[in-house]
Parts: sequence; structure tokens; C-alpha cells
Amino acid sequence: MAHSLNHPIRTIAIDGPAGAGKSTIGLGLARHLGFLYFDTGVMYRAVTLAALQRGIAPDDENAVSQLAENVLIEVLPPSVDDGRQYTVRLDGQDVTWAIRRPDVDAAVSVVSAFPRVRQAMVAQQRRVARDGNVVMVGRDIGTVVMPDADLKIYLDASVEARAWRRYRELESRGAPSRYADVLTSMKQRDELDTSRATSPLRPAKDAFVIDCTHMDAGETLAHAIALVEAQNAIRTGTQAQSAVATGAPENEL
Ligand code: C5P
Repeated sequence: MAHSLNHPIRTIAIDGPAGAGKSTIGLGLARHLGFLYFDTGVMYRAVTLAALQRGIAPDDENAVSQLAENVLIEVLPPSVDDGRQYTVRLDGQDVTWAIRRPDVDAAVSVVSAFPRVRQAMVAQQRRVARDGNVVMVGRDIGTVVMPDADLKIYLDASVEARAWRRYRELESRGAPSRYADVLTSMKQRDELDTSRATSPLRPAKDAFVIDCTHMDAGETLAHAIALVEAQNAIRTGTQAQSAVATGAPENEL
């Protein structure tokens, strides 16, 4: 199907492994463009927390799937000025920080691999995507949730660089842990996220891959903004097509 290229970018998918900086770049792009920022990882985290709170084993596929189909997860504008990017509510309860706990980190990739859990979350994510003007961040956004996204970015970095960033982030939030533990947990999550049968983590064929191992957040965001601007110029015909690589087949331009 040929894309309609005459409107500026309205939907942006950002995928990549844990700790690559997707939320920083996603939020930065959303602010720059005046778009909604939606971090889909919080939904899988909220289901995981709900299971832990109810004493349901994270690997109990049937019970966890039923839970995912019945809990109410809301992602709202920040309700407290404590550094949060949004407020997450689970059946009315504020779980914005609780979903970042190490026990949630350790169990979320097991929960997110269950097909019924994914089905329930993806249905809600597609409703958000339908309105456009959105930057959606996750693992399967460009491949499954918004396969027709106007721009797809796959943000990658070495596992050591990602673990180091996550370690520093935990430290700055007053929740220190050992670097070696963060690295081990990240490697386990990478393994589960890339090897699961349903919607494994991988770049969409038409994604622009940005490796930010050696870039800081400011440089990565500048790179992403430049990419959006270059693509918008092509889409709206304000720049010679040959000047910028598009990644799109010639007959679609
Ligand atoms: O992005 P974040 O690290 O918060 O995501 C937590 C977990 O949720 C991931 O490790 C992955 O297992 C799952 N996830 C997913 N699909 C998404 C977003 C997150 O499977 N779109």
C-alpha cells in the first residue's frame, strides 16, 4: 500500500531494548512536536504489579491473562510534582513509582510474553494511536501496534551502556542497587523480550535504527529531531528528495 506523503508526520513509533533511552527521546520528541507521549511499558508493568499485589504467580498464564483483561489501567497527566512524566493508576490507585520496583522489573517480561495479556494491552494502545499526534514507545509499536506509523525509530545501545544508565537513574531516585545486578537483570529481560513467540522485540523493516551507545541524551534527541524534520521535508515536498535518505521504495515517493 502506498503511503500518503503529503501530510507531516502524525504518528511516531519508538522501539528498542530496556534502558536505551526511549522514554527520554520519546518525551523530548513529543514536547518538541506538541504530541501526546505514550509509554506502553507502563501498561505491562501495571499488570505485573497487579499480579504481585494479589499474590498471583507471574507465570500463572491463565490467572495473569484474566487479570490483564479486567484491571483498569489509566495513564494520565502528572498529578503530583515529584519528577514523574505521567501518573499511572491501577484500579484507581496511584502506582506511578511502584511499577518501577525491582520485583516488577524481574517479572514483567514473563507477564508481557502471554498472548492474551498482549492482546488486551494492544487493543487499548491502538485506541490511543487512532487519534494521531502521538509518540508511542515500547517493544512492538512499529511492528504490531502501529505498523502504519509515519515514522519508526529503533533506539539501540550496548547492554553495558544501558545497564549503566539504569543504574545511575536508580541511584538518582534514591533506590541504589549494584551495577552487576542491574546488568544481569537487563540481560535476562533482553533475552526474554527478543525470544518470545508473540511480538518479539525487533526493528520493523522500515525503522530508522539509532545506536546511541556513544551519544548522550541531548545528542540523541537532536538526532531524532533532525530525522523528523528531514522526513517532514520529504513528505511535504519542501526539500529535494535526493538530498535525504528516505528508506522508502522509490515508487512510493
Ligand atoms: O519499557 P519498559 O522497560 O518499561 O517495559 C517493561 C517491559 O514491558 C519490557 O521489558 C517488555 O517485557 C514489556 N513491553 C512489551 N511491549 C511493549 C512495551 C513493554 O512487551 N510495547
